[in-house]
Amino acid sequence: AAAPLGHSVIPIANKLQDIFAQLGSTSTIELPQVAVVGSQSSGKSSVLEALVGRDFLPRGSEICTRRPLVLQLLQTKQKADGTEEEYGEFLHLPGKRFYNFNEIRMEIQAETEREAGGNKGVSDKQIRLKIFSPNVLDITLVDLPGITKVPVGDQPSDIEARIRTMIMSYIKLPSCLILAVTPANSDLANSDALQIAGNADPDGYRTIGVITKLDIMDRGTDARNFLLGKVIPLRLGYVGVVNRSQEDIILNRTIKDALVAEEKFFRSRPVYSDLTDRCGVPQLAKKLNQILVQHIKTVLPGLKSRISAALVSVAKEHASYGEITESKAGQGALLLNILSKYSEAFSSMIEGKNEEMSTL
Ligand code: GDP
Ligand code: MG
Repeated sequence: AAAPLGHSVIPIANKLQDIFAQLGSTSTIELPQVAVVGSQSSGKSSVLEALVGRDFLPRGSEICTRRPLVLQLLQTKQKADGTEEEYGEFLHLPGKRFYNFNEIRMEIQAETEREAGGNKGVSDKQIRLKIFSPNVLDITLVDLPGITKVPVGDQPSDIEARIRTMIMSYIKLPSCLILAVTPANSDLANSDALQIAGNADPDGYRTIGVITKLDIMDRGTDARNFLLGKVIPLRLGYVGVVNRSQEDIILNRTIKDALVAEEKFFRSRPVYSDLTDRCGVPQLAKKLNQILVQHIKTVLPGLKSRISAALVSVAKEHASYGEITESKAGQGALLLNILSKYSEAFSSMIEGKNEEMSTL
């Protein structure tokens, strides 16, 4: 299944990677990390999963995410025979490849219990999971425990403060994009997600509002004012989504089915018909893509000057030899060639050769 996230960024990221590979460097653009915040059961894990396009996160009506899950997506080359190989690997189980995504979910659960116990305990110790796939871009997503007010099970009395501190440690980083998740059947003005995101990113440059559960709002109400930013304005705006209900999960409905159902939901609700750019998981992915492309544009000049600096140091090295040997001249020419290729790629990115980017 193709991941909707990164659709328009993958070609650019790949191009850059090729250029870096020719330069003999493994370094490439570092994309911002994306973290989900919100109260417990607001739908954070569901949103991440829908963005990745695979089922593998524990979700449920009780507290499920009890340790931060740092999910590194890593792009692999498609195999020569055209088949796609997708697998996960945990930091705590090096070398073990999980090809079955249900087993990934079970291992997340088991590893959560190993550290945080079996009785709703929460730990700030990360679980680190890499997903290797030809369909993803190299980006890191962070699934976080939700904000909870009343301690249950083995949770300490200061559980709320502890979880808030844990969340802040991720979202305070200026390079972290924040998906602030609020369910549509709650009061947006009291949203824990928007409150904590506002603390970390007061100017709202890196916070996207996500309204979940549009399907289970009280009859006669809708999320128009939320999505239009009339309740709490957000610079980057809001996207409303419909993810799988607990029943859908029990019935093993797939993400693909859920996307079809979501599309149908919005199509059949006239109240959202003029807000199609703010409705649905694909729109959320598009918004994220646009922000990532913008980010690449911002960091490219820095990369360009790094390459120029590398060229200057090669030139100096040549000068120190007193004469330019054949092979050195060849090397210099190669680097210049790469740089001009790089500039070409750079310009075409800025002009926006594909549709997604030209909407910027
Ligand atoms: P988290 O605690 O914020 O990570 O929330 P989860 O993703 O685990 O979801 C909590 C519960 O809400 C699960 O039972 C999900 O099936 C359900 N859920 C999430 N999003 C939606 C939605 O858009 N509509 C409906 N009906 N249920 C949802
Ligand atoms: Mg969760």
